[in-house]
Amino acid sequence: MITPVLPAYGRADLEFESGEGPYLLTPTGERYLDFGAGVAVVSLGHAHPHLIEVLSTQAAKLWHTSNLYRIPGQQRLAERLVEASFADTVFFTNSGAEAVECAIKMARKYHAANGAPERDELITFDGAFHGRTLATISAGGQEKYLEGFGRRMPGFVQVPMGDLKALKEAIGPNTAGVLLEPIEGEGGIRPWELTSLRAIREICDEAGILLVLDEVQTGIGRTGHLFAHELAGVTPDILASAKGLGGGFPVGACLATEEAAKGMTPGTHGSTFGGNPLAMAVANGVLDIVLEDGFLERVREKGLHLKQKLAMLADENSDILESVRGEGLMLGLRCKITNTDLVAAMAAQKVLVIGAGDNVVRLLPPLIVDDTHINQAVEAISAACAAIRADKKAKEGAK
Ligand SMILES: *Cc1c(COP(=O)(O)O)cnc(C)c1O
Repeated sequence: MITPVLPAYGRADLEFESGEGPYLLTPTGERYLDFGAGVAVVSLGHAHPHLIEVLSTQAAKLWHTSNLYRIPGQQRLAERLVEASFADTVFFTNSGAEAVECAIKMARKYHAANGAPERDELITFDGAFHGRTLATISAGGQEKYLEGFGRRMPGFVQVPMGDLKALKEAIGPNTAGVLLEPIEGEGGIRPWELTSLRAIREICDEAGILLVLDEVQTGIGRTGHLFAHELAGVTPDILASAKGLGGGFPVGACLATEEAAKGMTPGTHGSTFGGNPLAMAVANGVLDIVLEDGFLERVREKGLHLKQKLAMLADENSDILESVRGEGLMLGLRCKITNTDLVAAMAAQKVLVIGAGDNVVRLLPPLIVDDTHINQAVEAISAACAAIRADKKAKEGAK
C-alpha cells in the first residue's frame, strides 16, 4: 500500500527534532554534525538567533498580501542584491527551479522584445542540474529525471562541459543564450575553469546571446563570494539564486541586468507566494549576516582550511578517496568506493554529508562553522575510511 507521503524520495532512516548551529538533534537527543546543511540551504546554521528574531517579528505583523500590492521587504532585499551584485533588478520566487524558470522565460522574452522571438533555445552542459519542473528537467537533460515524463520540452540543447568548440558550433539562429552552473553541484562539485567562463562570456557577447547563470547552489556566500562568478571576474546577464538565500525559508530570486530584463513588463510573469513578507524578512536577515564585513573572507579561509585537510585525507586514504575539488565551503570528495557507502559510513560517525554525481561526496557545511566543526568532520571521514577498510577486510576474510 502506498505511504501517505508520496514515496518519491529515497530517504535515510533518520529524523531530527531540533537544530543548534551546525548540529541536528534526533528525538532521542543524538547529535549529528550537519555538513550537508539541507543541501546548501541552512547557510547560517540551524536556529540562528538573528533569523529567529526577524522571522518571529514579521510573523507577529504580516504574513502575506500577494504581489497585488507593494511589499517593502521585497524592495529592500532587491535594493541590497542590486547593490551587492551585477544586477539592476530582481524577481522573487519560492524555489530554485522557479528562479531558473524565470531566468529561462526572461532570456526568451529578451530576444522577443528585440524582434527575434525565434531565439528561444538555451545551450546547457552535461552533468547540469537546474531543478525538477518540466522545463528545468529538459534544461538539465539528465535521463534519470526525464524518464517516463513524456516528450522533452523544446528549447534546450546540451554540449559537453568545458567543450567550447562544441558550444560555438551549437550556437545558431535560434540560440537565446547559455545556461550553466559555475560549479556543478548535483553533477558532483565540477567547477568550470575560470578561463572558460571568461571565454564563454566573450562568445555570448559576440553572438548577441545571453549568459544565464544558475547559482542556486553556488550563491549567497557558499564559495566565499556572494556569487561564484565573481571569482572569474565575469558577470552574467541573468542569474538564478535560491537555496542559501533563505537560510532554510523557501525563497528564490532571479537577478538580471536592465537590458536582459527589458521584455519583462507588467503582466508578463508572476507568482502568488513569491517574495511574501515572511520570506523577505528572513532573506534580509540572511543578508544582514552574509554581507557583514569579513564574513565572506572567513568563509574563504575556512574553505581553504577544510580543503587542505581533505587533500591530506585523500592522500592518507588513497584506497578510498581519489581527489578533492570545489571552492569555499562547497567541496567534493571523489571516491574510489561507491560514494553512498562513504555517506553511510559518515552518518555512522554522526556527520551528515551528501552524495552527488560523478561518485562524489559533497561537503556543504553551514557557512558559520568553526575549526572545531571542521576538525570533527575531518576525524569522522578518517574514521569512516577506517571502518570501510575494516569491513572490506572482514568480507575478504570470510570468502
Ligand atoms: C537545487 C538546485 C536547483 C533547484 O532548486 P529547488 O529549490 O529544488 O527547485 C536548481 N539549480 C541548482 C544548481 C540547484 O542546486
